[in-house]
Amino acid sequence: MKRLFWTWDHSTNWIDNVPGSQEMGVANLYGKDPDWFMTDYETAIDWAAEHGIDAIGVVGLLRERHRGVDGARRICAYAREKGLRIYLIAGVYAYGGVFYEPYRKDDPHSLEVFLRDNPDCMALDKAGKPLYRQFKIPGGHKRDAQGCPSNPKLRQFVLDCVDWVFKAIPELGGVQMETGDVGTCQCERCRARRGGRPAGSISLEDMAGIYPAIGEIVRARSSDAWVICETYHHFLDDACAAFDPAKNPSKDLANLLSMPADTFFQWKCDRRLRGVKGQSWPKGSRVPASLARFRHIMRAHTGTQWWGGRDSFEPELIRRQCELSADAGLTAVSMFGETSPHRANAEFNYLALDYFATDPSRTMDGFVRDVMAPRLGGETAAGRYAELAVLKDEPRKIPAALDEIARIVAGISDYRALSRWFFLADYLGIRRWEAEQRAKERQGGSNDAKAIEDLI
Ligand SMILES: [Zn+2]
Repeated sequence: MKRLFWTWDHSTNWIDNVPGSQEMGVANLYGKDPDWFMTDYETAIDWAAEHGIDAIGVVGLLRERHRGVDGARRICAYAREKGLRIYLIAGVYAYGGVFYEPYRKDDPHSLEVFLRDNPDCMALDKAGKPLYRQFKIPGGHKRDAQGCPSNPKLRQFVLDCVDWVFKAIPELGGVQMETGDVGTCQCERCRARRGGRPAGSISLEDMAGIYPAIGEIVRARSSDAWVICETYHHFLDDACAAFDPAKNPSKDLANLLSMPADTFFQWKCDRRLRGVKGQSWPKGSRVPASLARFRHIMRAHTGTQWWGGRDSFEPELIRRQCELSADAGLTAVSMFGETSPHRANAEFNYLALDYFATDPSRTMDGFVRDVMAPRLGGETAAGRYAELAVLKDEPRKIPAALDEIARIVAGISDYRALSRWFFLADYLGIRRWEAEQRAKERQGGSNDAKAIEDLI
């Protein structure tokens, strides 16, 4: 299976300790000096090229803040030189469109500018008012205008933007297009086009209405670009009935199903991988029959601010993602790639993606032996790392864990292995300290050590 990294430009930090770095968000401003965009991504590309990663997707690839087309082209070309690809992750009717954040107030490729100048193309909410998505800190800050998928003028604008970006950046490796998961247009035309089926924050009918046309334009400009259709769903979700021609005999669906077979459909598995609210992903599951002939990507937010916390140690979840994806016959697996592998837990998560995607029948014991042991001072030590790294939510066990780490590192001389152990010690030490502060607060600020220990 292919391996992909998914990233937002504003929170991708492959070089740490840079002023303006952000650790999370959606639709944030870019906070660093512009050249850090290129440095972060070139560093990521170098590492990816050496560790089996095939592609890196970027939301916010085009911003004047980090040199617009020139900055984007530079990292796309660099990736091609290194044998992998950068692909654009772009909202179609939301998330700012192709040119995510222009300086020019009349930029011809910005969805925001277009909707400001063409208010008749705005999506409408249930009350018939223009639809905006207000992202709120810590999940972002922008107020994004959303477009109406039934408006032919907007449709032409979207297609022109896609055509322009592949012409302006011939090294671009593909596009992950997404209609939006933050609200859908409720105008009469949109409701009729969806055949009366209700649409909440996501509409598979909206996707079917535009993805084939975008795919055609991409392929006309670039013979090898990846065409990736984001679905925002797991393929087992009930909503995927909309991909069944027997249940949804629409012309749009027929167009979607007639896309070339090398088109990717992208799914996500966080809830099913963790069994949230009884959801599951049983072995032997298959993508909807109507989509079986396409290529498929399964993505997850493992080891990020969205699930489990940034830098959480999650090779076992990644192993299961790979095992179940391979079992289902999928083509690729994707994870967030925003953090530096200097953070050892992130490094092991990334290496797990490569290890288990290469052979999904491999075991965690094999990962410890083959991948972790050479990086941590031997197999016994590596086994202990895997057991200690998951103690982040068990603060009572952390003092003993730190004591053990001190004993382990006494026998290690390689500075890179030491650095990984020191990362883990710091990672756990911070969580212990934070648990102490919360306990102290709960008992009214008292420093009574026994009472704090009881509350942790
Ligand atoms: Zn509409």
